[in-house]
Amino acid sequence: GTAAVDVAVIGAGAAGMMCAATAGRRGRRVVLIDHATKLAEKIRISGGGRCNFTNRDAGPANFLSANPNFCRSALARYTSQDFIDLVTRHRIAWHEKHRGQLFCDESSEDIIRMLRAETDAAGVSWRMPCSVTAITRNVPASQTAPDADPSGFPTRTGFIIETSHGPIHAGRVVIATGGLPIPQIGATDFGLKIARQFGLKIIEPRPALVPLTFDAAAWKPFVPLAGVALEVDIRTGEGKKAPRFREDLLFTHRGLSGPAVLQISSFWEPNTPITIDLAPGLDLAAALLDAKPGNRQQVVTVLSGLLPRRLAEQWLVAHGDLWPGLATQRLADVPDKTLRALAASLASWAVVPSGTEGYKKAEVMRGGVDTRGLDQQTMEAKTVPGLHFIGETVDVTGWLGGYNFQWAWASGVAAGQAV
Ligand code: FAD
Repeated sequence: GTAAVDVAVIGAGAAGMMCAATAGRRGRRVVLIDHATKLAEKIRISGGGRCNFTNRDAGPANFLSANPNFCRSALARYTSQDFIDLVTRHRIAWHEKHRGQLFCDESSEDIIRMLRAETDAAGVSWRMPCSVTAITRNVPASQTAPDADPSGFPTRTGFIIETSHGPIHAGRVVIATGGLPIPQIGATDFGLKIARQFGLKIIEPRPALVPLTFDAAAWKPFVPLAGVALEVDIRTGEGKKAPRFREDLLFTHRGLSGPAVLQISSFWEPNTPITIDLAPGLDLAAALLDAKPGNRQQVVTVLSGLLPRRLAEQWLVAHGDLWPGLATQRLADVPDKTLRALAASLASWAVVPSGTEGYKKAEVMRGGVDTRGLDQQTMEAKTVPGLHFIGETVDVTGWLGGYNFQWAWASGVAAGQAV
């Protein structure tokens, strides 16, 4: 026969478990369905295995969306402090690392255990591993069918979910199947497919929080810098509101990575440059000109005092065509104009990435279900009563630093309170 529940949550990741626990505590009969064999792999690998589970300062300004105000309500109703309180009640030890980023002291497994315990306490039932083959609206057999079966369960509404373990009749369905990154651990486009099936719009999905790559020939002079890390200012786009971050940059064999690049990658548009200040907070031109009078040191030596040595050396090699022999010239002998140009090349290095490392390396997907089709209080599709979307499937994308989990928790709670 067909199992009947009030709420079926599809996807037992961060948002799905939070939503199921919230709905279950309100007395709803909830089933959580996930196709994975291992629970919440993405939480497990997050934050380098320690799960950066929230950010103390999470607010709407830390998210990208075609509809920037959509996330406001859910974030205000379930704050990072609410999640900190939950973690503390479960006696999970945590610490603040950097700019409000909170991590587990021990392991991200602590967060998975906590969410599992929350769903158990809320009486949530599980189907896992279990795949969903179809979701359809429940159409009554005849117009005279009763509105409810003898137990009071609504039969004229809701959905039939076909699964590898038989059909489920659910009054409401919550899609929490996450985004496209890391297909190796079970990410799928299920949420986007269901959205399309029910006529919702999609904002084009793209890898975000992802290393940037460059054309091999153009990158060749920078390959020897692989492994060099330094703090930079990074920006992309035009105008006063153009996003800008001061974070660490990492040179790789194929391009650029590190927190600075991951942050800017979410904003980067193909065929446009990113601009990097490799000596942020330092007026490099003034430093070189001040040091110049009577200075018999080679340019490379002076520059190595201002920048990581490998960067200083290789920068002069990479620009050998532009300034032949500059590295070994005495600083005092170099024209001011050349020193200014050298400083400018480092302070506003504009490079055009050819692409990203893609979903295999991305931490998150930008784009997703267009929030203009969803109710911001309940995450319910405006045109499909009873169908909700939460977490990363939705076009709300957080910065690096615990924001994506905070969106998963907050959107999960918002839907869990409404279903
Ligand atoms: P998920 O947690 O991905 O859960 C989706 C669930 O749906 C999974 O269990 C999956 O098995 C299931 N599923 C998918 N398709 C189907 C289907 N067709 N049928 C049934 N089930 C399905 N964010 C942070 O805030 N802090 C961090 O430290 C952090 N570190 C990260 C590190 C890495 C390497 C990656 C890849 C991401 C990281 N993120 C981090 C991002 C964060 O993990 C996600 O944004 C978050 O997990 C999204 O929650 P979700 O519930 O929407 O999706």
